[in-house]
Amino acid sequence: MSEQRFSGVAASAGIAMGAMRVYRPEAAAGHSAVIAGSPEQERARFEAALQQVERELNNLAEKADAQGKEILQAHLMMLQDPELRAMVEGSVAGGTSADAAVTGATEQFAALLSSLPDEYLRERAADVRDVGRRLLAALSGRTVGLKLTRPVVVVAKDLAPTDTLGLDRSLLLGLVTEQGGPTSHTSILARSWGVPAVVGVAGVLSAAKDDQTIVVDGASGEVVIDPSSVTRDQFRLRMEEAAAQAERDRAEVGLHAETPDGHRVELAANAGRPDEVALAMERGAEAIGLLRSEFLFLGRDAAPDEEEQYQAYAAALRAAGGRRVIIRTLDIGGDKEAPYLGLPKEENPFLGVRALRLCFRRPELFQAQLRALLRAGVHGKLAVMFPMVGGLDDLRQAKAALDQARQSLTAEGIAHEPNPEVGIMIEIPSAALLAGHLAKEVDFFSIGTNDLVQYTLAVDRGNRDLAGMYQPYHPAVLSLINQVIQEAHSAGKWVGVCGEMGGLPAGAMLLLGLGIDELSMSPSLLAQIRRLVRGTNYVEAQAVAQEALTRGTPEEVLALVQPLLKKG
Ligand code: PEP
Ligand code: MG
Repeated sequence: MSEQRFSGVAASAGIAMGAMRVYRPEAAAGHSAVIAGSPEQERARFEAALQQVERELNNLAEKADAQGKEILQAHLMMLQDPELRAMVEGSVAGGTSADAAVTGATEQFAALLSSLPDEYLRERAADVRDVGRRLLAALSGRTVGLKLTRPVVVVAKDLAPTDTLGLDRSLLLGLVTEQGGPTSHTSILARSWGVPAVVGVAGVLSAAKDDQTIVVDGASGEVVIDPSSVTRDQFRLRMEEAAAQAERDRAEVGLHAETPDGHRVELAANAGRPDEVALAMERGAEAIGLLRSEFLFLGRDAAPDEEEQYQAYAAALRAAGGRRVIIRTLDIGGDKEAPYLGLPKEENPFLGVRALRLCFRRPELFQAQLRALLRAGVHGKLAVMFPMVGGLDDLRQAKAALDQARQSLTAEGIAHEPNPEVGIMIEIPSAALLAGHLAKEVDFFSIGTNDLVQYTLAVDRGNRDLAGMYQPYHPAVLSLINQVIQEAHSAGKWVGVCGEMGGLPAGAMLLLGLGIDELSMSPSLLAQIRRLVRGTNYVEAQAVAQEALTRGTPEEVLALVQPLLKKG
């Protein structure tokens, strides 16, 4: 039989080759209709099922790692959710079977989550369905999950998070699913276990049979069933190269990003949620250069209160184990919407009431966040960063708000960190041009190239038609960045980059040459950038950067930097 090729979303890097185990839970579950007993009987069945599932989740949690424990904790909370219980009990009281009531309630919750704009929250619908499925299995006396007896690649339509958690990791070579996205829990778990995974592979299940050979490349998203001997050889070669690279990456995790001629750059990671902090540290991040606080505000019906924010920021600081965590205050607006804030529709949202501009208009929202940040500051090394600062007025108003938060906490006798480092993002050209003034009143700058590029070049960062014009290597952008670095250093302040440019090889080399102190990027990019820095002489990078500043087009800049990239 000839090989069959598929492609999907690369969810967890690495290559796996081996026998396949196809998981079809629907077949095992069956679909027998349940006749409802009396409401009392149905309620008692529901109670018993709740208790059984609670036991199952606690058993899984005993064997799980930190990431798994966190997921199971969330499942336990869903299981104990009073609204879910009320919905089920309401249906049961009306004569519905516990089974149908559970199906109805969990589907309603899952559908609500699926309709949210935030991808991460949409993916949580799978968790609610997982809880519902376990409850249904408990109601009918079935058990759920897949028991592995030999090393296999598991192929499934979708894998519920607790299915994945229940798998014997020592026998799991790889994962392939038809559904799911890169932020589904199965993908998150696969990444944290280092198990290659490709998700969203259309049509793979109908071609898959137990014991067939399958190869999976979790970096490219390729999946091949019944590979030819030529394909096998190609993948074996890739496996050897990837294993050697992973080995080198692991060995280098503790190394500094220091050039051979002794110039050091701090390598930090960007995080979108507190649970990404620990992962970043494992990959060798020396700090968190940007924690976007929007994760707490998006995809929900109301703003998080001070306490919820405090818990989340404290978790991030604890996970960093004493390393600096730069938490950015709210940057809603632009392409990030929170309907509950009731913001009027704007013609040009990226030029509208965004970030600090919103916070200044909603002091109660801003104060709750600033108080939560300062309170959390006692759990680690906090730095507070303000986004979208346009000039001194913005900075002073933001610092005054921070002062107010500090004073209110002091007056109420609430424990807090009174003096965190305070910095700003440089992402509006006016701030770059005024860097000399701003530098005197902050502890650090972090250049947000994602926005700096769009505002300098007047190119919407999200407009696909203009993607070719969105150029981080544009000499106008480089000139602004150069000015910011010079002014920060003249004032004795450090300056980093937390926009995507810092994780691009050419971007990192130019920034290194311009004298950047810190580069913050997605954790998966740290190893490559660390290697590049370690392979490049600072004087050489400086010469290239200075030369680049004299060029007139992005193409000329890129041509100059290209020779440096061979070292990575
Ligand atoms: C930036 O603008 O470069 C940045 C890091 O912020 P965001 O992408 O969240 O706007
Ligand atoms: Mg920005």
